[in-house]
Amino acid sequence: MTEHALLSASGAHRWMVCTRAPRLEESVEEDPSVYAAEGTLAHGLAEIKIALELGMLTKRSFNQQVKQIRQDALYTQEMDKATDLHRDLVVERYNAAKAETKDAAIYLEQKLDYSPWVPQGFGTADTTLLGERTMEIIDLKYGMGIAISACENTQMKLYGLGAINQFGVLYDLDTVILTISQPRLDSVSSYEMTVDELLQWGDTVVKPKAELAFRGEGDFLPGEHCRFCKVKATCRARAEENTQLVALDFKDPPLLTDEEVVKVLSTIDQLVTWANDVRDYALQRAVNEDKQWPGMKLVEGRGSRKYTDEGAVTAALQAAGIDDGVIFKRSLNPITNLERALGKKEFQAIVGPLVQKAPGKPKLVVEGDSRPAIEGTAADFD
Ligand code: SF4
Repeated sequence: MTEHALLSASGAHRWMVCTRAPRLEESVEEDPSVYAAEGTLAHGLAEIKIALELGMLTKRSFNQQVKQIRQDALYTQEMDKATDLHRDLVVERYNAAKAETKDAAIYLEQKLDYSPWVPQGFGTADTTLLGERTMEIIDLKYGMGIAISACENTQMKLYGLGAINQFGVLYDLDTVILTISQPRLDSVSSYEMTVDELLQWGDTVVKPKAELAFRGEGDFLPGEHCRFCKVKATCRARAEENTQLVALDFKDPPLLTDEEVVKVLSTIDQLVTWANDVRDYALQRAVNEDKQWPGMKLVEGRGSRKYTDEGAVTAALQAAGIDDGVIFKRSLNPITNLERALGKKEFQAIVGPLVQKAPGKPKLVVEGDSRPAIEGTAADFD
């Protein structure tokens, strides 16, 4: 079983804001998601590929391990392509460090102890590179959601602190580079800071917050970071914040004013996310734990029809003389599936010029949203 720190590096963006979260989350057991299992498999594959390339693993041992990985139900060819890209990046960065000094070193899956700043804090960095005066930490993110930036990334900075704690006495380091490699999105993000800047952040920002979080003290502070909190569905602070968002004075006049409509609009996404979290939580407990919610019952949703045996259906239709044009539908694989199967580069090279991005439907968002406002009139939308 994987060891986890109470104040994990990956959860730091949450516990450094809401210091009450970790102790509350401690009581909640969660089954690892299929995405987490897929990520773990990809990390294992990337690690052995890098180790083979750098002569840290024999070909025989690599073959044995890769065979096992490829037998896993979660393995895909895309995983091979993505981990190849990640391996190439790591090897390239290691070679650059070696060109600077023959003493350059690389550590894979290195446990890093950042407990001088965070009680019992530790994490595992995928790759730690030590060069002449520069250290680089490279983290593989296998996700396909959004490209994650290394800039001011708390998880990466905590790894950086752990690496300084571990290797600072052996190497005369003055610069830290934090790199996030997300090969499925063709994204590599690097952020550079001095060792002094990182240490100062550790002493003045991390340490006080970590001490509060470890004791379970401080304030509940709901926000974007609640999204991955284990108690997001039942947290009272989050519920109160969301219910207050639409606590409008509905007395007069009988119709909402423009300001009130805007107030509702600007909170809809957050409210819907929270409401869905509560619904998913309640449903999961009703289905898996037989939980009886007062005044509620489980019913069957709308079912959908499907063929029990596609071969038998085809045979029956053909025997009845139905034309193949009626029986079969031929269609092109959707863009996302095709891109996933080919990889971004190959997809772009073969069909990139044949893909056109249609403008999305107009959407009302808050003014601070990073997307540019649409210039035009109502007639243009028609
Ligand atoms: S749901 Fe949000 S406010 Fe509540 S404990 Fe978690 S992070 Fe804090």
